[in-house]
Amino acid sequence: MAKRVYQVWKGSNRFICGGRLIFGPDARSLFITISLIVIPLVIFCVFVARHLLHKFPTYNAGYAILVVAIAFTIYVLVLLMLTSAQDPGIIPRASHPPEEEISHDSSILDSTPSNQIPRFKEVMVNGMPVKVKYCDTCMLYRPPRCSHCSICNNCVERFDHHCPWVGQCIGLRNYRYFFFFVFSAALLCIYVFAMCALYIKFLMGGDYPTVWKAMKQSPASVILMIYCFISLWFVGGLTGFHFYLISTGQTTYENFRYRADIRLNVYDRGCLNNFLEVFCTKIKPSRNDFRAIVPDEPPQPPPTIRPQDLEDDSGSYPRSKVQDDLSISADLSMISQRHNIDEFDEEIGGKSPASIPSIAPESKLALVLDTQLPLMTADDDEKLVMNLNQSRRIDSFGILHERSSSQDGSLKDEKGEVC
Ligand SMILES: [Zn+2]
Ligand SMILES: [Zn+2]
Repeated sequence: MAKRVYQVWKGSNRFICGGRLIFGPDARSLFITISLIVIPLVIFCVFVARHLLHKFPTYNAGYAILVVAIAFTIYVLVLLMLTSAQDPGIIPRASHPPEEEISHDSSILDSTPSNQIPRFKEVMVNGMPVKVKYCDTCMLYRPPRCSHCSICNNCVERFDHHCPWVGQCIGLRNYRYFFFFVFSAALLCIYVFAMCALYIKFLMGGDYPTVWKAMKQSPASVILMIYCFISLWFVGGLTGFHFYLISTGQTTYENFRYRADIRLNVYDRGCLNNFLEVFCTKIKPSRNDFRAIVPDEPPQPPPTIRPQDLEDDSGSYPRSKVQDDLSISADLSMISQRHNIDEFDEEIGGKSPASIPSIAPESKLALVLDTQLPLMTADDDEKLVMNLNQSRRIDSFGILHERSSSQDGSLKDEKGEVC
């Protein structure tokens, strides 16, 4: 039976509703977070708001206190789910390393051990060079501001941090919801605190003239006020911190990582533009379709495994190393072949290309096969030149003329005549 993307997902995420909702691996903490919001609300509704229902006879304002509290809590929970249950900006993993980046320069030391891919690459951002890092797990160069979350095991665009309270990465696609969640939670704390204080004040105006007697009459109000006061330090402080981050064009990750570095922030577009970028730009669609059907792997012939492949096979790429060697070798052979034709052109005294017969496709194939598909070495390159020259003679005239290279580089046939 065909599987869907979320069923073969390599990250540590958890999916529900058939891949429609995606969470981090620590999504259970979400229940704690929801409990920390809902339980105080229930206490507030039962022990505080219920007694305030009839305190404002005009316009039934007492009911409004209850309704606002419930509606605002629902709003906070919706923001929490928007933050937690959707793709934060995961970059899909590549199926194999970027071949165009593979370097064959053995002098490169700052490269991944399994192959010759440089660990860093420079890209331009707002006219400034920025180094981007290669991710071994996702087999791609991370875009600027992207980072690999070790908890979710994914590269996430504009990675801010992994929030254990929402059980999800905070990234490009859910940062806005996260900020509003924290900000709204702070407002909810202030609201509940204020309503509890109001209820205490009403009690003091009635049968309980002192504040202590009033507080003794409504211990739920006191507990809620203490709870909201402590929570406000967290969510209010977090709101202020993210307000600062947005205004300066930073992410939490960048702030913690580069705090000591005195350097220009290339992502800072000015306070107003930074806010507009976070709150007023369209949220990019997800790069992942978690419900898409995974195409069946086409049957492939078993590759010929050589001893050296077994010795240095340290990767676990979906494309086997043997396959990579084959394709790279073939490419190199073709490049080398073109190069040698140019050399040959020069050696024969600058004859026009039109006068040199081209190599038939069969010869190209023969060239590749003749070299036994090696990883290229200097010796192999010489063999390739000889094979090329021999093939050319066969294709040009249809007769086998043995060709050899002399010491001075000129080409001679068996009779010793200079071509
Ligand atoms: Zn990654
Ligand atoms: Zn994460």
